[in-house]
Amino acid sequence: MLAGATVLSGCSADPVETKKAEASTDKYRNFYQIFVNSFCDSNGDKTGDLKGIISQLDYLNDGDPNSGDDLGIDGLWLTPIMPSKSYHKYDVENYYDIDPDFGTLEDFDELVKECHERGINIIIDLVLNHISYNNPLFQQAVTEVSEGNLDGAAKYFEIHKSDYFSDDTQVVRLSDGYVCEANFSQDMPEWDLNSEKTREEFTKIAKFWLEERKVDGFRLDACKFFQNKTVDGTEFLKWFYDTCKGIKEDVYMVGEDWTEDSDIQDLYKSGIDSLFSFKFAQNTGQIVGNMNTMQGATFAKKLKAYEGKMRESNPNAINAYFLSNHDQVRIANALQSKGLDFEKFAANVYMLMPGNSFTYYGEEIGTKAESNSNDAYYRTAMVFDSNNLPSINVGNIGSTIEPPVNGGVKQQLADKNSLLNHYRRLIKVKNQNPAIARGEITDLADFGDKEIAAYYNEYDGKKLMIVHNFNGKEAKQLEITAEMLENPEIAADLSTVEATRAELKNGKLTLPPHGSVVLETKAS
Ligand code: CA
Ligand code: CA
Ligand code: CA
Repeated sequence: MLAGATVLSGCSADPVETKKAEASTDKYRNFYQIFVNSFCDSNGDKTGDLKGIISQLDYLNDGDPNSGDDLGIDGLWLTPIMPSKSYHKYDVENYYDIDPDFGTLEDFDELVKECHERGINIIIDLVLNHISYNNPLFQQAVTEVSEGNLDGAAKYFEIHKSDYFSDDTQVVRLSDGYVCEANFSQDMPEWDLNSEKTREEFTKIAKFWLEERKVDGFRLDACKFFQNKTVDGTEFLKWFYDTCKGIKEDVYMVGEDWTEDSDIQDLYKSGIDSLFSFKFAQNTGQIVGNMNTMQGATFAKKLKAYEGKMRESNPNAINAYFLSNHDQVRIANALQSKGLDFEKFAANVYMLMPGNSFTYYGEEIGTKAESNSNDAYYRTAMVFDSNNLPSINVGNIGSTIEPPVNGGVKQQLADKNSLLNHYRRLIKVKNQNPAIARGEITDLADFGDKEIAAYYNEYDGKKLMIVHNFNGKEAKQLEITAEMLENPEIAADLSTVEATRAELKNGKLTLPPHGSVVLETKAS
């Protein structure tokens, strides 16, 4: 019925079907975060591995930006892959190898090559704040401290007499009243980031991965804890970023700090490309929080303010937006029970923001966490086929898995209204319209409706208007004046409620419930 109406009114074909997309050649990317333990197990030992990832690359990107047969992501973030006894591997025992559970350096080289052939940039998690207690260098420090030698391996770490640290600093006890800073756990003592020795070691590590293994950059863990009594976190980050740029001029780096805007602003002064924007993520963040109260205008205001602030600290800042990651309850937990349009709309909002989007594996099929009692529930196996469930062990919760309610990848590919197909369309739209990621929010558009988020995004002489309807029940009629946008047309319609679509006629925009559009000036 809808298709018939379209023909009668003489609407043109869907531009998303016909417009050409181009592969990115810069740092603006649609990233996909893989928790390596849990993505795909190639050899049946119940642990995900690098060969498993290689086997699923065509799902992520087949190398043709116009094939439409893949998710279209062009950036990959792997959680830590270096040897470690934990399943998450954030406590590194050796910075120069691959954990045998995940594969070998040869497998890794193969993965990098396969990614690059598809136009995917690959970044790996690098943990520079802390180390595994079992790391041989730290073990050497423990032994030397017990022998009264503080000038050897101890020089790499935050080892001091116990009264050195304030009471709120967590430490691990060594001998003779010495302790080492350890904010995360007793198993993860911290590096001394001011030490010359540490910086020599970090330079070696960066060269190993950037030069020899050809990764495109790093996701830097726990930047929040770089700062301590004597370390200036921003100075350290600047040193590391500059060092990496010296090794690979176009290195991409994204850091993790989940605290205040002011802390993130400080870290951006290092010159780092990206920092994650935690305040927009999760069920209480600026995206889903404002969806729940239908405050679209408030959301747009917050976004513009955040973008402006971060660009003040670093004019080249590429904010890294996401809905959830491996440390957080799955976003489907907050959205799924409300309806598929909530999941699709949250995706619209974060992926159409300027900067880089980071999609947590399984988010695109609505994976839920069975419980929030343990991080492992946020990291369960990826379901490629819900009729053939994977068996992958995750931490201490084993391999139990709750399949996504709308099926795995295979089932959702076959359903044109699935969340997965919506993600594919969204990423395609981003690849067709490079201004979305690269642009700057120059102003908000005011329709006098607090449920509407509308902003201008300008890039390279091109002006887009992005409009979201935060009301999930009512369509909106909005007048797009010539002052707002000359000769406006819909560049992309991202409607989320089945059988609805946006329309623009004589400057009157009809925006469906939870609908989003990208508007541009008609090419003359
Ligand atoms: Ca395996
Ligand atoms: Ca493709
Ligand atoms: Ca630290």
